[in-house]
Amino acid sequence: MEKNPNYRVLLYYQYVEIEEPDVFAKRHLKLCKSIGLKGRILVASEGINGTVSGTWEQTETYMKEMKKDPRFETMIFKIDEADGHAFKKMHVRPRPELVTLRLEDDINPHEITGKYLKPSEFFQAMQDEKTIVLDARNDYEYDLGHFRGAIRPDIKTFRELPDWVRENKEKLEGKKILTYCTGGIRCEKFSGWLKKEGFEDVAQLHGGIVTYGKDPEVQGELWDGQCYVFDERIAVPVNQKEHVVVGRDYFDGTPCERYVNCANPECNKQILCSEENEHKYMRSCTDECRVHPRNLYIQEHNLCDDEVKERIENLKRELETSV
Ligand SMILES: [Zn+2]
Repeated sequence: MEKNPNYRVLLYYQYVEIEEPDVFAKRHLKLCKSIGLKGRILVASEGINGTVSGTWEQTETYMKEMKKDPRFETMIFKIDEADGHAFKKMHVRPRPELVTLRLEDDINPHEITGKYLKPSEFFQAMQDEKTIVLDARNDYEYDLGHFRGAIRPDIKTFRELPDWVRENKEKLEGKKILTYCTGGIRCEKFSGWLKKEGFEDVAQLHGGIVTYGKDPEVQGELWDGQCYVFDERIAVPVNQKEHVVVGRDYFDGTPCERYVNCANPECNKQILCSEENEHKYMRSCTDECRVHPRNLYIQEHNLCDDEVKERIENLKRELETSV
């Protein structure tokens, strides 16, 4: 990516009623394209959720345009400086939900949600003995970085979280529960759901991890690793005071913060691995993925069948001698 510090990334959401989300989405895409932004925006009848990138001027124009609409007048934009665009294209997609929970009984955060905590309040509350900190994100997000001591729900997607809570009730009962996510949008619903589920003392990190990392008072303290983001940057720093690496290489367990996708496009699993191990293991999570007919690593490196076989045999031999 070409370095240009004049770029910015905006992260934002607003739970507010939007009539005819598909009509809104079409118009909004036109607006974004006319400004020259790139990014991904979801629109639902319950609101808007977006990440866009552009030059300083483009992002400024967008924020001004949005604030003209009374529905988004008070919307908070989290602004990150960047070296260039964080996306390749511009998408605005109508969706049934802003964050996919698919609850039998949907949550409106304007009616029920956890108590909002500012970064400094969250920082204090986290250190209370009766408190448990529950990460409301997916396992691969947690693995790259999380609040020190936070509980890691074993989930691949957000909609698995309610079931995980029901199966792990004993971890949460009688405790003060603090939840957090990247920008705050998932916690708005999830903390509301927790209250509805009968947990009484539920609070959420207002503005999410990205706000916490920029807060002049806490400066990201007690965050370990980096924050996973859903754009080309993949990882952004949070803790301004110290950097503790918590990510571990999928293959050898050494400290690592480099995510790649499994080269089998039908698997596509995100794995943390060093550049060295990427080549050694052909960027594939299992032997099955290594020999998959559509394996991208094999295509990129023009490996023939015999070469692939030989590499897999070498890996087996190494494993046998190390045991
Ligand atoms: Zn795989």
